[in-house]
Formats: sequence, C-alpha cells, structure tokens
Amino acid sequence: MAENAADNNKRLSESEERFRALVNATSDVVYRMNPDWTVMQQLNGGGFLSDVGEPIDNWMDKYIHPLDRELVQTAIAKAINTQSMFTLEHRVLQADGSLGWTSSKAVPMLDGQGEITEWFGAASDITSRKRMEEALQQARDEAEQQKRLYETVTSNTPDLVYVFDLDYRFSFANPALLNMWGKSWGDAIGKRLIENGYEPWHAEMHEREIDQIVATKQQVRGEVAFPHATLGRRIYDYILAPVINAQGEVEAISGTTRDITEIKENEQRKNSFISMVSHELKTPLTSVISFVQISQRRAVQNNDPVAADMLERAGKQLGKMTRMINSFLNVSRLESSHIQIDHQPFDLSMLMQEVEEEAKATISSHQVVFEPVAGVQINADREKIGQVFNNLISNAVKYSPTGSSIYIAAVEANGTVTVSVKDEGVGISETDLPRLFERYYRVREAELNHISGFGIGLYLCSEIVKRHGGNIWAESRPDKGSVFYFNLPVIEG
Ligand code: ADP
Repeated sequence: MAENAADNNKRLSESEERFRALVNATSDVVYRMNPDWTVMQQLNGGGFLSDVGEPIDNWMDKYIHPLDRELVQTAIAKAINTQSMFTLEHRVLQADGSLGWTSSKAVPMLDGQGEITEWFGAASDITSRKRMEEALQQARDEAEQQKRLYETVTSNTPDLVYVFDLDYRFSFANPALLNMWGKSWGDAIGKRLIENGYEPWHAEMHEREIDQIVATKQQVRGEVAFPHATLGRRIYDYILAPVINAQGEVEAISGTTRDITEIKENEQRKNSFISMVSHELKTPLTSVISFVQISQRRAVQNNDPVAADMLERAGKQLGKMTRMINSFLNVSRLESSHIQIDHQPFDLSMLMQEVEEEAKATISSHQVVFEPVAGVQINADREKIGQVFNNLISNAVKYSPTGSSIYIAAVEANGTVTVSVKDEGVGISETDLPRLFERYYRVREAELNHISGFGIGLYLCSEIVKRHGGNIWAESRPDKGSVFYFNLPVIEG
C-alpha cells in the first residue's frame, strides 16, 4: 500500500516535470500565481522578463505596463469568477526595462472540492510581431491620410486630373473630369478614352503620347480643342507625366488638363486689337512720311538747311515708328499663323554685306565690326533673316554704352552656320536669360532706365529662326556684355 503511494507520487512528479519541461520549451515565460493573483509565487522569465524565485506581491508594478494594468485586472477577475483560463495579449516591462508584448495564458489548478489552489501560467514574447503589426497599421494610417489629402486636392480643382494605366485605361478621374464626361466613377474607371466618349483621332493621339512617355520617361505637354458636354467647343492645355516606380520604370501616366479657352480668347482679342491699331496707324503714317519727304526736298531746293535738317530728323523718327508698328503687325501675323516664310537659296555673306552697309550708314554711336564667312548658301527668307540681324544689332546698340564696339560674325561647321552678335553692354542676369525670347518680355532694368521697347524684337527673331529649323540663344553676364547667337542649316555642296 505504502509502496503504491510512493510509486504514484513518483509518477506524478515525473509527469509534472515533463509537463514543466514542455511548457519551458514552448514558452518564454512560465509563472505561478496564488488563487486570487495577489501573490506571484514564481516566474521564470527566460531572459525576456526578470526571474522571481521568492513570492512577491508587487508583480503588477514590476511586469505589467501601466497602460495595460486595468486590462489585465479585468481579465484576471473574469478568469477567477468563471474558474476558466486567463488569456490575454498585453504590454509588459521587459528585463532590460523596455516595452514588450506577451501573449499570456494561465490555467487554474483545482483541489478535490473544486477550489482554486493556484494558477499555472505561460507567456510568449510577441514583441516583434506586435511591432510589425504596429508599423503596418501606421503605414496604413499614413496611406489613408495621404489618400484623403489627394482626394481633397483633386476634388476641389476645376482642372481635370486623371491617371492612366499602361493599357491606356483610366485608373483615376477627379470629380471635374467625371462631371465633364457626365459619368459616374463606376462607369468611367477601367475604361479607355474611346469608351469614355473621346473621338477616335483624340483617343489615338493620347494613346501614342502614352507610348512615348513609357519609352522616354519624359512628360508631354500639348493643346487640344474638343467639345465639352455642356459648354461647347473648348481649348485645353494638358500635361501627361510618367509615374515612376521604385525600379525606375513607368507604372502609370498622370495627367492634368486646364481649360484655357478664355485665356486664348483674351489673347486673340488683344492680338486683333493690336493688329487693328497698327493697321489704322500705318495709313496716316505713310502719308506723313511722304509729306515730310516732299517738304525736305523743297527745303533743300529753297536753300533752307535748318528746315531740311529738321525734316530729315523727323523722317528718321518716322522710320523708327514704322519699324515699331511693323513689328506689332508681325507679332499678330505670327500669332494667327499668317506669317509666310518664303524660302529661297542665297549667300549669307551677301546679306551680311548689305546689313553691314546699312549699319555703317545709320549707326554712328558705336563701332560695328563685321566678320562674315564666305560662300555659305542658305535656303531661307532673305528679308526675315535680315530682320533678325537688324533686331540683334539694334538691341546691341540700345543696351551698350556709346563708343563701345559691336562684333558680328558667322562661322560654319557641321552643316550649320552660326551667327553671333556681341556687345560690350549692360549684360543680362541669369534669371532673365531663359525668358528673353518670350513675347512682351522685358528686363526690369530696361524698364527702369526708360529704354524704349515692347519686348517683341527677340520674340520675333526666335519665331523666325525656329521656323527656319534653327536655334537662337544668348550668353551673357551682367556688366560684361552679351552675345546673341542663332544658327541655320546650310545648303551642302
Ligand atoms: P525690347 O528691346 O523692345 O525691350 P527685345 O525682345 O528686343 O525687346 O528684348 C527683350 C529684352 O532683352 C530687353 O528688354 C532687354 O532687357 C534684353 N536685351 C535684349 N538684347 C540685349 C542686349 N544686347 N544686351 C542686354 N540686354 C538685352
């Protein structure tokens, strides 16, 4: 009988040992609690939590993170009441003092009367999993916030904002665009341009642009006119840009489109106004010029040198006025694409010779030095290229001090001839340089110093040169003078 009891005890303690070994192997922490959890009898922390050998009653302060203490208390109370397993994920204070997370479970040990004698618990370290979950949640929250932000921005602009996938399908369209189509998000997204009501030429044009963007990773900007659902024909300015992924490839195409119909109409009104005024001014001016010329001749005949001199000066001023009016007319012709480029082959050095003669005859304030290149044939509009020379030279005169020199040269290389007009004048700042060739652009100093001009000379030069397949640019530093260049293709042979 006694042997039996001893055997039983031995087996019992053996199985208890095995059980503890198993719990130790699968858990980071093993602990024992008294029936009402006021005293922790023992805790093996496995390096994660600090060990407890002797019973302690301040375990809550020692191990449980302040923010989770109430949660833990509630779970304990529930487990005690129902005599069922305690189970909870909560924050703990780790052995090194830092914050950690455990998944903790404890089972009640019952005696013969069904009373709890102690609790036996095990907990595993789930800190890294929780950290990952937290990071994921944070990323999700941030993504959500970004989405809200972009949605608000794109919802509150009158511009059309959209995204294409690489199959030319809309993957995003803002309310302004949906509104223009008269479609709902569900009807329009995932569809191609043609399915959203674009005409075939228009859909085809944008699809080719998308191909180009995918190939070059460069944005495309253009202007297009098409009928709006309710407003009739409108003109739009659009920019399509690549969305580049982490691998550097184009993953989508974003687009913004702005209705510029009114801007265009205003521009057109302004142009036709300028053109009308210039035309109206030209007629009386032509008569005044001829009256002045006749009077000048008569003054000479009548031996009145004072009157002859004054009339000659009046004639020069009238010439200046005519050139100004002509340049306005040229701008409005350019804008309405009525400017004609009459190509004809000619020798550039011959033209330069004429320009030189005219410059020598009219410019006395500066030294004008010509270095032409011999025998360069170009196929161009002789009169318009002459205008480019005259504009650049008169700017060089205008923006450099009396007595300084102006050098005009031409060099031929690789099938192009490059002309340069160099002065020793006021120069141009880095901020103004890229904008000089814009229509009506003038440098502030020129305005302040009351140098007359309308900011159209260089614009005209640039349009003329571009229409000949050439380029125009300038190099300059303030107070160091400027060099204006333009190049044109030459006729080989
Ligand atoms: P405008 O001379 O009638 O103002 P342009 O289009 O010919 O118009 O020139 C635009 C601006 O460029 C001028 O206002 C002037 O400030 C600047 N500019 C042009 N040529 C020169 C030059 N040779 N040196 C310095 N500034 C110049």
